[in-house]
Amino acid sequence: HITALGDVQAEGGHYAGAALFFRDLTAARRLEHMRVDFVANASHELRTPLASLMGFIETLQGPARNDQAARERFLVIMREQARRMSRLIDDLLSLSRIELSAHVQPQTPVDLVAVVRHMIDTLAPLARERGVDINLKAPPLPVTVRGERDELLRVFENLIENAVKYGQSGGRVDVGIERSDGAAGEVTVCVRDYGPGIAPEHLPRLTERFYRVDVAASREKGGTGLGLAIVKHIVNRHRGRLTIDSQPGEGASFCVSLPVIPPADGA
Ligand code: ADP
Repeated sequence: HITALGDVQAEGGHYAGAALFFRDLTAARRLEHMRVDFVANASHELRTPLASLMGFIETLQGPARNDQAARERFLVIMREQARRMSRLIDDLLSLSRIELSAHVQPQTPVDLVAVVRHMIDTLAPLARERGVDINLKAPPLPVTVRGERDELLRVFENLIENAVKYGQSGGRVDVGIERSDGAAGEVTVCVRDYGPGIAPEHLPRLTERFYRVDVAASREKGGTGLGLAIVKHIVNRHRGRLTIDSQPGEGASFCVSLPVIPPADGA
């Protein structure tokens, strides 16, 4: 390819076109690699619980056929494996749906404060189970953004659930909503936990599909490894930004900034 590029360059004016073509080709190859990797990862993730299910079915049909106690125990595990597959399929479908509409910016006015409050209420039972207190600091008035309510709920579901799951059990999670009244008119929602945090080398890769710092820990907590990839795609589609900060040993904070609709022409 380099030779071809040299040849074209010798002809003069076509250089820029060839360079663009060359760059497109590498981008296309990279995309193709990512697609192949993704299919391989997704298949592997689905095959693991499936293999476990097959194993239990065979045991129940064979050696454990008449063992009532084993039967009960195995069914509990089988149900959990089936749930895991179902969660994974739901996340894969969400991701592809969001990707399909990536170029369309959602336009419905949504009150972000209400969205975050609703999600904190929804996750209260999980937080209680882990002895975690979720504190919210929010402005008293609505903060309206253009968006899609379900997708925004999904963003804060993933971030707050992660903070509860990976943060300190018996600890606290702080959720803060702040308007920055600069010219841009933005709102930033930060979800902060005080758990073990994330080492700096992992930070840039956290939003990759299936990237997990500790695969076993994520599986044990029912994770699919797709949550932050989904968050990133939704935030991008809403013309927002996701920033992740962490001091290992002190916790992590995930902040989402979105453009706000000024109160005058808001809903
Ligand atoms: P998962 O389904 O594994 O939770 P996510 O995409 O939501 O997938 O997160 C990817 C990985 O990022 C997790 O497996 C975990 O290792 C790490 N992570 C996410 N949130 C936190 C957090 N608040 N504290 C520490 N690690 C986190």
